[in-house]
Amino acid sequence: MSNQPRVSALYEGTFSVGKDKLFHRIEKSDSPNKGALKLSINPFMIQDGKHNILFDAGIGDLFGKETSIQIMFENLEKHSLSEHDITDIFISHLHFDHIAGLANREHGFWEITFPGASVWVSEGGWNRLRENIDQNSEDEIDLFHFLDSKADLKFLSEKEKPIPNIRVEQIGGHTKFHYALFYENGDHKYMMAGDVLGSKGAVNRSYKAKYDEFPDQSMEKREELQKLAFEEGYTIMAYHETNSPLFNLVSYDETKGYKIDNVSG
Ligand SMILES: [Zn+2]
Repeated sequence: MSNQPRVSALYEGTFSVGKDKLFHRIEKSDSPNKGALKLSINPFMIQDGKHNILFDAGIGDLFGKETSIQIMFENLEKHSLSEHDITDIFISHLHFDHIAGLANREHGFWEITFPGASVWVSEGGWNRLRENIDQNSEDEIDLFHFLDSKADLKFLSEKEKPIPNIRVEQIGGHTKFHYALFYENGDHKYMMAGDVLGSKGAVNRSYKAKYDEFPDQSMEKREELQKLAFEEGYTIMAYHETNSPLFNLVSYDETKGYKIDNVSG
């Protein structure tokens, strides 16, 4: 008997993010404020009977008054789960909009959000964040030190299968130690490539992005991953996508590129 995994996007909202670096909540259909970026946040959850896995951890309450860990709790409740039920969290890269949800200040002091979870991160990435941590905001520095001492951190190494059905691959690009995360269980195949393939707008476009640390590498991997998703039937999980962040690439046309089919969840 194969157990069918349940895969869901835990949508935390769509935000306008400007120079103040705070996340201002907007509607999905809104434009961002002048000079600001529009950014949606979707950690993904995979429930496969034995494990309740997250791919990236959401924004928690780190980015101003309009961000709250309650959204994560409510999202889990919709799936009849609590924060205690999460067993493993895999982190694509260590930017704070992907890790801040690992801890929260709901009660006025830092607490680990998912007390039962192993948190799988890049060792090189974690050390690098430690070396450069003083370049971050005060809140980010506090959060880092709290996680460093209190989270159940487990380090990923390249091309490893840390737990059953999970494969990770260091792809670099957006950051030096950026990972692509894969869930593979028979016909059920999912890939999450953080900000290398973070939205539908990244599909079918060749571009070098300003926000990538290694734009050439990112571009190359973005194309490789789309090809893999199409040929091997992976559903793409797009962390920053506003509308239907789970989708398949279902056909290919020389001029139009891949056709995108949304997947519910
Ligand atoms: Zn991001």
